[in-house]
Amino acid sequence: MSQIKIKCEKCDHEFVVDVEYEHVDSNSDRGMGDEKIYEAVVDVECPICGEHITGTIEYWEYPEGVVDHKSDDNLDGASVVEYGIECGLN
Ligand SMILES: [Zn+2]
Repeated sequence: MSQIKIKCEKCDHEFVVDVEYEHVDSNSDRGMGDEKIYEAVVDVECPICGEHITGTIEYWEYPEGVVDHKSDDNLDGASVVEYGIECGLN
């Protein structure tokens, strides 16, 4: 279980949500081992304004142990402030 911090697009409230990152895909055609893609589903309501925040967030790990890229393009209703509190994702 990871904790992320998101910011509601409607009222700008920032709050922490528990998510479960799952390893969803790998690219093995790179030189320093596999590039791994992790995804977490977000489905919460803003505790202040009730905005429904839903979608997925992703990060790419390459090489192993290094976060290469992060995305909240598929998350509706909020943006991600921190992708993983106290787990090296920021
Ligand atoms: Zn809100």
